[in-house]
Amino acid sequence: MGRVMEINLYLHPMQNIPPCPSCKSLYAYEMEAKLLCPECGFEWTPETGFVEKGLQVKDSNGNLLADGDSVVVIKDLPVKGAPKSIKGGTKVKNIRLAEGDHNIDCKIDGFGSMALKSEFVRKG
Ligand SMILES: [Zn+2]
Repeated sequence: MGRVMEINLYLHPMQNIPPCPSCKSLYAYEMEAKLLCPECGFEWTPETGFVEKGLQVKDSNGNLLADGDSVVVIKDLPVKGAPKSIKGGTKVKNIRLAEGDHNIDCKIDGFGSMALKSEFVRKG
C-alpha cells in the first residue's frame, strides 16, 4: 500500500548528441531544437540531415556551407562544352551540397544546372 515514487520524472533519457560537424567536439549540447558546440560556437540542426550524411562542404575560406546558402565564385571557371567561363564574382543562390569531387549542385544564370567545387567559392 506504499506510495509509488514517481522517479520517472527525474530520469532523463540519455541524449545521443553527435559530435560537432565543425571541430568534432564531443561536448555539443541541445538547445531549442538546435545543437550547439561550446568549443567552436558552431550551430546546426539535426533535421537537416547534414550530420547524418556526414557531408562537410567548406568554401575556400574553410567556412562550412549548408543547403540553401548563397556563394560567390572566386575565380573564372571554364565550363566543358560552354563557349564562355563562369566569371569570378558570379553569385550563386540556393546551393545544394553533394557527395564527390564537385560537391555543390546549383543553377547558374546562363549556364543552367552546374556542379561546382567548393574550393572555388566563398560564402556570400
Ligand atoms: Zn565545434
